[in-house]
Amino acid sequence: MPKHKVLIVEDEQDIARLIKHTLERSGDADAEVVGSGDAALKAVAAGPPDLIILDLNLPMLSGVEVCRILRSRADARHVPIIMLTARTTEQDRVTGLDLGADDYVTKPFSLRELTARVRAVLRRSAKTEERPAAAYQGTHLSADFDAVAVAVDGESVRLTRREFELLRYLVQNKNRVVSRDRLLERVWGYDRLVETRSVDVHVGRLRGKLGGAGRQIETVVGLGYRFIDS
Ligand code: CA
Repeated sequence: MPKHKVLIVEDEQDIARLIKHTLERSGDADAEVVGSGDAALKAVAAGPPDLIILDLNLPMLSGVEVCRILRSRADARHVPIIMLTARTTEQDRVTGLDLGADDYVTKPFSLRELTARVRAVLRRSAKTEERPAAAYQGTHLSADFDAVAVAVDGESVRLTRREFELLRYLVQNKNRVVSRDRLLERVWGYDRLVETRSVDVHVGRLRGKLGGAGRQIETVVGLGYRFIDS
C-alpha cells in the first residue's frame, strides 16, 4: 500500500518532530513538517497531501486563516484537516470546524490519541465520495435518504421533515463534530435567525424517536453534535 502523505503545520519544532516521528513509526505515513501557514499553502500547492495536521497557533498567518484558504481552493478543498488547539481557544476550534476542518486534538495531547484521530480521518476520507450518501446501515439504525425511510431494528420511525434533514446531515458527516451554527445553516437554511437552542430541542426529539440508536448522536460539550457510526 502506498504511504499516506501527511503535512504537519507547526512552528514548535519539538512538537512537530515528535508527531512526525510517531506517524512515520507506524509505517504507513510519510510526514513533512512546515513551520508557517505560508509554507503550508506552498506545500499544498506543490502536491496536496492525504492529511494536514494544522496547529492553530502559528506566527503570521493563523491556522484558522490557513484552514479558510485551503477550503476555498479546489486542489485542497477535500484534504482532511486535523487541528491542534489550545484548551483556551475554543472559539478558534469552533471556527475551524465551521470552516470544514475534520477534527481537532487539544494540546497537550497524547500521541496515542493523535494517532487514533489520524487513522480515523484517513480511513474516513478513503471512503468518502463526492456524492452524499443515499443510505445508511448501522447495527440498529437504517436510513434510506432517497426514499425518506428511517428504521430502528426494522421498526419504521416517523420523523418530521426537519428531524429527517437533521439526521441526514449528521449521518453524512458521521464521526465528525458538527457545530450548532453549521446545523442551523445547513439544515434550517439560515444563519442565526433561530436560536441555537432550538437545534438542541430538535436533536433531543430526534434522539427520542430513534430509541436505542439515539445514543449514536453524541453531544460534544461546547461544540455541537457528532453522529457515531455504530
Ligand atoms: Ca504553534
